[in-house]
Amino acid sequence: MKEKPTVAVSRCLLGENVRYDGQTKAMPQLINQLAAEFSIVGVCPEVEIGLSVPRPAVQLVFFDDSVQAVGIEDAELNITQDLLSFADNFVSTNPIISGYVLKARSPSCGLGTTPIFPGGEVGSGLFAHRVQQQQKHVPMIDEIRLSAPLVLRQFVEAVKSYAKTNN
Ligand code: SF4
Repeated sequence: MKEKPTVAVSRCLLGENVRYDGQTKAMPQLINQLAAEFSIVGVCPEVEIGLSVPRPAVQLVFFDDSVQAVGIEDAELNITQDLLSFADNFVSTNPIISGYVLKARSPSCGLGTTPIFPGGEVGSGLFAHRVQQQQKHVPMIDEIRLSAPLVLRQFVEAVKSYAKTNN
């Protein structure tokens, strides 16, 4: 039997209690649909750079002409470089990954939905943004957009096509 393509999924969507507040954002129905088509690898950039659960929340801010991930309560907490290095390492050590399903609005995982302070613009979390730079054409989507059945079908086809071309 042909192997399923592999997708990386935010671990909070898989039902793991890895969020800053110790909670999860489990999406069991969506994960079952994905698991029918793909092998799933969980990823939680914030935990995997060594932060605890629970942990101080971070947000994206414009700082020094760039977007950085900084503590909401503690501006000394800056995990920007750790997230970028983690993304570089994740991409290079997981060449088999043919798609990403990431948590919307997160300063690490968000895809064009994360608020950037001050000013109210939105952008991508630092892990997601760096992966997009490194693995340019890999299909990436968040759980909100995937809730539309047509979008889910299109994502499944896009991942299969990427896997066929790149693996
Ligand atoms: S959004 Fe990303 S960084 Fe935040 S808890 Fe979920 S997987 Fe971890």
